[in-house]
Amino acid sequence: MHQPSIPQIESSDPEIAGLIHDEARRQAEKIRLIPSENYVSLAVLEACGTVLNNKYSEGYPGKRYYEGQQIIDPIETIAVERARALFGVDHANVQPYSGSPANLAVYLAFAQPGDTIMGMSLPMGGHLTHGAGVSITGKWFRAVHYGVRQDTGRVDLDEVRDVALRERPKILICGGTAIPRTIDFPAFAAIAAEAGAVCVADIAHIAGLIAGGAHPSPAGHVPVISTTTHKTLRGPRGAMLMTDAAHATAIDKAVFPGLQGGPHNHTTAGIAVALREASAPSFRDYAAAIVANAKALATALQARGYDLVSGGTDNHLLLVDLTSKGIGGKPAAKALDRAGIELNFNTVPFDPRRPFDPSGIRLGTPAITTRGLDESHMPALAGWIDEAITAAIKDDEATLDRVAAEVRGLLAAFPMPGWSAQP
Ligand SMILES: *Cc1c(COP(=O)(O)O)cnc(C)c1O
Repeated sequence: MHQPSIPQIESSDPEIAGLIHDEARRQAEKIRLIPSENYVSLAVLEACGTVLNNKYSEGYPGKRYYEGQQIIDPIETIAVERARALFGVDHANVQPYSGSPANLAVYLAFAQPGDTIMGMSLPMGGHLTHGAGVSITGKWFRAVHYGVRQDTGRVDLDEVRDVALRERPKILICGGTAIPRTIDFPAFAAIAAEAGAVCVADIAHIAGLIAGGAHPSPAGHVPVISTTTHKTLRGPRGAMLMTDAAHATAIDKAVFPGLQGGPHNHTTAGIAVALREASAPSFRDYAAAIVANAKALATALQARGYDLVSGGTDNHLLLVDLTSKGIGGKPAAKALDRAGIELNFNTVPFDPRRPFDPSGIRLGTPAITTRGLDESHMPALAGWIDEAITAAIKDDEATLDRVAAEVRGLLAAFPMPGWSAQP
């Protein structure tokens, strides 16, 4: 059963209620290795399901375009203050609807259509919104890219500097969606300064690691920080933009009225609750455990002959090149899902295959760490991954079903917030 219970939906809309229960069970019974996903607390779920949904509050605390903001203003102010304290930044805007619009607001603030922007290329580990051709960010701006070195799988900062000094972008973005290694924020900031670009750190994936002290922070080095709130940070779906004092006004104007209308106040409350959770000492343990689990899983997979891009991980994420195993990422991911192990297929740097049928899989440990799995479980998890991939190659469906049952058996001892076996 979904937790909190949903009796009103059950009586008014049994079709949707049934699907919500089914999704809660599916989440509970599968090992969630998608590195951008997590499980929010019941407190965060509650915040998102409140009457705060009902209120319009275009503007910012104290400067709104609608009346009746007596309660919304302190909620947003608390969220902002908690973000500032947790990340050590001068200014925070908690209104972006999600990570993609947050990045769009950054472009609106510091670039004109047709200007050059620079980020990591999508197939190398960047995000769509870092100027990929299919994205508005690649269509409305002149996007130039850097990648990783083929021999190391790591960003080559000399290449970044060469491209930046040649292309003179207005904006230089560091961060991405498939980067298993520590991001050198001071180095990116120095290159941006030399090239005359605004440096932007997109920490969507690693915000929780930064908050918990398990990855160096861009604060104090990089003037503009963009993040989602729902990945390692373990909050509701949403985003924040954090800046130094000099870039605060431009960002606020870009988010509203530049890009968005009314903020999602229920999400703002959920972000505030999540930021409080992330400020607790236990969250530091959580962040450290995410990294320890990722390193243990990397070691266990390597022991079974799997090739990891860059040879390992420093953070929550592993990128596995399956070329040597003789299977593509997509059939492997589909078989793993059947075996109760949920992850995504992904391009690997210099991938010879097509993006919709690439060579790799991407996995991460934020969600399983939330459930309480530790390093001692990683060899068994690597074993199941290996069995499922081998079974996929042999079309051995019985093994996939057996692994799925074993996964369910393990997870029964590690409840997830949001589902309960008992009604
Ligand atoms: C997830 C992500 C985003 C986009 O977030 P959405 O909420 O999915 O729009 C942006 N940048 C990076 C690096 C991300 O990982």
